[in-house]
Amino acid sequence: MRGDSRGEETVLLPTRSTSKGPAERFTGEVWVDGITDGAGAGTPTLATVRFSPGARTAWHCHAHGQTLHVNDGHGFVGTRDGRTIAMRAGDTVYTPPGVWHWHGAAPESFMVHLALSSAGGAVDWGEPVNDGEYLAGCGGLIAPITPPQ
Ligand code: MN
Repeated sequence: MRGDSRGEETVLLPTRSTSKGPAERFTGEVWVDGITDGAGAGTPTLATVRFSPGARTAWHCHAHGQTLHVNDGHGFVGTRDGRTIAMRAGDTVYTPPGVWHWHGAAPESFMVHLALSSAGGAVDWGEPVNDGEYLAGCGGLIAPITPPQ
């Protein structure tokens, strides 16, 4: 039997090119590999995001919330109320809809996570996470670093 009741078949999707995280949304070197863009029925948006040491998102929030799953390395998620969650490979962190936050690598470690959201959930972007906010989120114990150029 070919395909399902709608005539669709299982296919290997084309590989997309890696894109650099734009400077207005990220501090430091960040690379994004889109996996799905939510185009199919019931399909979420999913991407692999790679952060170099010290790199992080700007402040932002997701209209439908977001789930992060760490594949490798060590990083943090910080929220406006000053809470920070440390995360390592194998950890999963959920941020509810409308909660302003940032995520990124620890100062001394790369961090790779999957970023999962439901389709159609807009992202509101705010200002960069400055070094003071970032280091406070990392525990404030680590000397400032210069992000890779
Ligand atoms: Mn997020």
